[in-house]
Amino acid sequence: MSDLFPALESGSDRPALRFGERRLTYGELAGAAGSLALRVGGASRLALWATPTLETAVGVVAGLLAGVPVVPLNPKTGERELAHIVADSAPAAVLAGPEVNLPGALGLLERVDIPVAGTVGPLPEDPDPLTPALIVYTSGTTGPPKGAVLPRRAIATNLDALADAWDWTADDVLVHGLPLFHVHGLILGILGPLRRGGEVRHLGRFSVDGVAEELGDGGTMLFGVPTMYHRLAEVLGGTGAPGVEGEESGRAVAKALAGARLLVSGSAALPLHDHERIEAATGRRVVERYGMTETLINTSVRADGEPRPGSVGIPVKGVRLRLTDDDGSAITARDGQSIGEIQVRGESLFTEYLNRPEATAAAFDGAWFRTGDMAVLDPDGSVRIVGRRATDLIKSGGYKIGAGEIENALLDHPGVREVAVTGEPDADLGERVVAWIVAAEPHAPPPEEELMAHVALQLAPHKRPRTVRFLDALPRNDMGKIMKRALGAGPPA
Ligand code: ATP
Ligand code: MG
Repeated sequence: MSDLFPALESGSDRPALRFGERRLTYGELAGAAGSLALRVGGASRLALWATPTLETAVGVVAGLLAGVPVVPLNPKTGERELAHIVADSAPAAVLAGPEVNLPGALGLLERVDIPVAGTVGPLPEDPDPLTPALIVYTSGTTGPPKGAVLPRRAIATNLDALADAWDWTADDVLVHGLPLFHVHGLILGILGPLRRGGEVRHLGRFSVDGVAEELGDGGTMLFGVPTMYHRLAEVLGGTGAPGVEGEESGRAVAKALAGARLLVSGSAALPLHDHERIEAATGRRVVERYGMTETLINTSVRADGEPRPGSVGIPVKGVRLRLTDDDGSAITARDGQSIGEIQVRGESLFTEYLNRPEATAAAFDGAWFRTGDMAVLDPDGSVRIVGRRATDLIKSGGYKIGAGEIENALLDHPGVREVAVTGEPDADLGERVVAWIVAAEPHAPPPEEELMAHVALQLAPHKRPRTVRFLDALPRNDMGKIMKRALGAGPPA
């Protein structure tokens, strides 16, 4: 019945999904998703209104059972972008929970309400592994989102590679507080546990206390983006809610994190400062993994490995990875300092950007996908990401400087809460290092010279910021990723 979810076949009363007080066992999920699959089978493509609810999980499983490609939509997307995605992906209908009010941009589409109960009839045959399973739009961090077409095979292959890397089994209970319209929250966070036959508990909305409660009540794994670990680190460090309440919650969080089997971070780099604060308070190191919508997860620190802050580990099973220099030749040095672009190949890759043959062709060098991310290889073969080629690599005074290490150095300063480093044109240096700072005390920001000297003390002098600008908040997208283009970084759109 389903090559992707063997556990559905057993129809067991093992827990599958929990969203607050709403739960489904594998048997109930098979009923709900199975009946919806029968209803939508044969459709060309389905949009899915991906609120953080039980319905979204049922909807995506139904699409996969039916063999109909699903396009998850971010409910917070503005009308214009939504209209673009709908026109681009041309779904036959939109799946949504019965409570949802759909916006005007979806007005002309047929609507199918997602049931959370039903009886399973005979399901369609599993389609060919190369048929599109999901069309996921990229986060739009560097430009308008592109629809990455992900075949069934990529999802199965990558989830099994993660099970290998993380010793992920049916006994795991994932604590989940991410949105459900990207790879991280939907494929890893929902389809991952379901493929293993384990349980996922979604918080609806991320909260530090929710994480502590669920990890303290049987949760074994936590998947998060850096902003979430940052918030956990703030509470652990006693700088969260003031007073006794803050301290109590800090202790509860420390205990819960210490008891988890695996804490995983990804979608952007986790700053060293947060790595360190979490380890100091809990004795646990966060495992970092690196992935993309187009490739799923490429590398990870293994559960049985030694997490090192700043490292995203080694390629997961089935992924081949190389670094290439500017003229495309492979860099083989494992010296921790030769920077090259990460390229990957293997069965976890997407097949194309929807309706963008030119972008697809430009993204590949034969079978190798050009990630646009720059990295170095450490002597043990593990990967350290320097940043994105377009926005994080600053060419200044003949040097190539990665924004990330300057950001890490600045975050170490007690007067800095958040930071983004960019390059700006400079007559003298080619590009000049600019630091955008959210001060810990907005009314008493640290002196600019002090911040420059702080960096110069830790890193080579040419890496110190020449300009410091203070902001109330950094521009971030729904995944908490810093939108450096809004700060003027990278080529014009
Ligand atoms: P768009 O492609 O639309 O500009 P995006 O690249 O942010 O947006 P995603 O596919 O969600 O969209 O994100 C993938 C990118 O996230 C990677 O290319 C990489 O730059 C970054 N990333 C993911 N995990 C990590 C990590 N552990 N460390 C550093 N960067 C990471
Ligand atoms: Mg991208």
